[in-house]
Amino acid sequence: MFACEGFATTAPDKPLSPFSFERRDVGEKDVKIDILYCGVCHSDLHQARNEWHNTTYPCLPGHEIVGRVSAVGAGVSKFKVGDLAGVGCMVGSCQHCDTCAKGLEQYCENGFVGTYNGIEPQTGSVTFGGYSQAIVVDEGFTLRIPENLELAAVAPLLCAGITTYSPLRRWNVGPGSKVGVVGLGGLGHMGVKLAHAMGAHVVLFTTSPKKADDAKRLGADEVIVSTDPSQMKAHSTSFDFILDCVAADHDINAYLDLLKLDGTLCQVGAPEKPLSVAAFSVIWRRRSFAGSLIGGIAETQEMLDFCAEHGITSDIEMIRMEDIEKAYERMLKSDVKYRFVIDMATLKDAKQAA
Ligand code: NAP
Ligand code: ZN
Repeated sequence: MFACEGFATTAPDKPLSPFSFERRDVGEKDVKIDILYCGVCHSDLHQARNEWHNTTYPCLPGHEIVGRVSAVGAGVSKFKVGDLAGVGCMVGSCQHCDTCAKGLEQYCENGFVGTYNGIEPQTGSVTFGGYSQAIVVDEGFTLRIPENLELAAVAPLLCAGITTYSPLRRWNVGPGSKVGVVGLGGLGHMGVKLAHAMGAHVVLFTTSPKKADDAKRLGADEVIVSTDPSQMKAHSTSFDFILDCVAADHDINAYLDLLKLDGTLCQVGAPEKPLSVAAFSVIWRRRSFAGSLIGGIAETQEMLDFCAEHGITSDIEMIRMEDIEKAYERMLKSDVKYRFVIDMATLKDAKQAA
């Protein structure tokens, strides 16, 4: 074991603060990554504050991790010391069930191991995430990071990128599709960029009219202010696919009603409270209400390579480690452009200042 520093919380109503802990030593198939940047996902906030009612404390969030490899186990073939590497939302899965065999580790029949708030099979302890100096991960759950993209702006691809890429691919979004993206936050802004790069006609739904210009710059062909019923009505029964990226309670029937025959609304946003689907919202026009969870490791690599090819990264606002609670409060007000990323070089100062 080796000593490591990070930022964690000990209870739902306690702020994140400096936290010292130990990580396992690098094993045969492990890669040690010195973390340079970590994105701030709304899931971090949900879990730090136990909004999904399954958090084990202390909780050390962060699952959009990029950094440099500082050690490798004897059996590692994918990386050498000095390489860039990334880690997303998973650090393990059973590797022998049918879904793992299909490369869908996120749906592992025995449960995947979360990068934080999971149980590390190697030690039996709770996993701690990326708001920290370093992480040790099985090479099978690490990603190669394209060299041509800005590193800090790549971090959010490891969750926000793959969570939007995977359903867009699964529902065959491409030229000729009319695609809606609901909510211009971390996930939503990646959804707009990716759907645009895939050739779809992209319509962004927002509750924040002041985000309209940004949405168009990011790749939206049209922007709808969802609180205006006349703007919503104008798009009635016209969408092939809608990706809902909203983190809070909202009326999904208003979006289901915009789907055409056999259209799908895919939920990726994960609000604390259940969403209510009116039967007739799906009965009419044989619509589907679906969901999607992150993406497998192979698909995450495919997404990173797609982004490298198309020059796609996240629009980020860099923060210092000690400003994480302020970032969470701004996230709750939908005031994010469009992903906070922690500069992990600030961790040392943040600890001293606390
Ligand atoms: P975020 O950056 O906070 O963005 C959420 C956006 O939703 C906001 O910017 C806002 O956009 C919109 N919004 C917020 N409150 C709203 C309300 N009351 N009504 C309507 N719209 C509202 O969050 P994120 O990091 O993108 O995460 C979004 C959700 O996805 C979270 O619940 C997160 O846990 C979940 N998630 C799921 C997966 C998965 O695998 N399925 C993976 C990662 C994250 P506008 O200002 O444009 O309205
Ligand atoms: Zn996330």
